[in-house]
Amino acid sequence: MFENKDTSRTSISQLGEFGLIDHLTKNFKIKHETTVKGIGDDAAVIASEKDQQLVVTTDMLVEGVHFDLSYMPLKHLGYKAVVVNLSDVYAMNAKASQITVSIAVSNRFPVEALEELYAGIETAASIYNIDVVGGDTTSSTTGLVISITALGQAKKDNIVYRSGAKANDLLVLTGDVGAAYLGLQVLEREKQVFKVNPKSQPDLDKYTYIIERQLKPEARQGIAALLNELEVQPTSMIDVSDGLSSEIIHICKNSKVGCNLYEDKIPLDPQVIATCEEFELDSTTVALSGGEDYELLFTVSTEDFPKIKGNPHLTVIGHMTQESEGMHLITRANTKIPLVARGWNAMKED
Ligand code: ADP
Ligand code: MG
Repeated sequence: MFENKDTSRTSISQLGEFGLIDHLTKNFKIKHETTVKGIGDDAAVIASEKDQQLVVTTDMLVEGVHFDLSYMPLKHLGYKAVVVNLSDVYAMNAKASQITVSIAVSNRFPVEALEELYAGIETAASIYNIDVVGGDTTSSTTGLVISITALGQAKKDNIVYRSGAKANDLLVLTGDVGAAYLGLQVLEREKQVFKVNPKSQPDLDKYTYIIERQLKPEARQGIAALLNELEVQPTSMIDVSDGLSSEIIHICKNSKVGCNLYEDKIPLDPQVIATCEEFELDSTTVALSGGEDYELLFTVSTEDFPKIKGNPHLTVIGHMTQESEGMHLITRANTKIPLVARGWNAMKED
């Protein structure tokens, strides 16, 4: 699982830039009426739906900084690069409809490697029902860079910003957190083992969930529809890309409120708890600073509590307070400690 398929090698120069673009994008099908013109002209043309506003977001992934190809298969990388962008569109409570994909690639990559990358992009485009409408292809001197821009639309009144949370609002999280970071720890460890003994066959069965959360994350596509069905309009929302505490702090700062987060309410998968024990890590620290979970974090008015109560996708993890009260974690021992943003990069350096 630690090698990308490299059975045959066709060099990029054999196809040339235009041949390469054609080759990689020939399978993309247009699914949305709003895509008036996709790949093939100087620019894509997108129709705006009536009464809707356009939502635009970009994320760039750089080899050696955001991903390591020694354990990240290119197909997964393509998939993940799409998902991390869609997650940002969903975090605005919008529907994602188009993406553009730009790559900078060194000649160490054969065409077959880019085919794998694009197979992942195509799978994500199909699962999340989005059109690939353009991009750019250029060379790089060393690694691989992939930058995706996602477009979405939403009714003006449905768009949810980071800035709308009010004191007493409930803080709600989808899914669970901490798994993607631990998946990375397992993969990093196996990479070291593999360096020493290339014949070792790792038994990763007990880590399937956390590794999948790292290598093949999913974005919360269905939450906008779920909230709509429940007739809940969040007062603020953000996606959990950098770690729960830093996202909570973003909402607090943008909304000018404080918050109490309850340690015993933070949803953790059993594999997260078991792997934390094995690695001697504190599960709350991992949940707060882990990152890359791509869950949605939002606030709702207390009046909406009956509508979300008991929903298996949603957990109330705390509530907002007056700004002057500050941002705190209420521990299991019922002590109050200030919430700090560390992010997973900072945690790595410990
Ligand atoms: P231009 O020179 O006008 O920028 P290009 O030759 O770069 O045009 O691109 C031709 C078409 O292919 C455009 O529609 C562009 O958006 C699309 N395209 C280029 N590179 C990619 C890529 N890596 N993925 C998807 N579409 C791409
Ligand atoms: Mg171009």
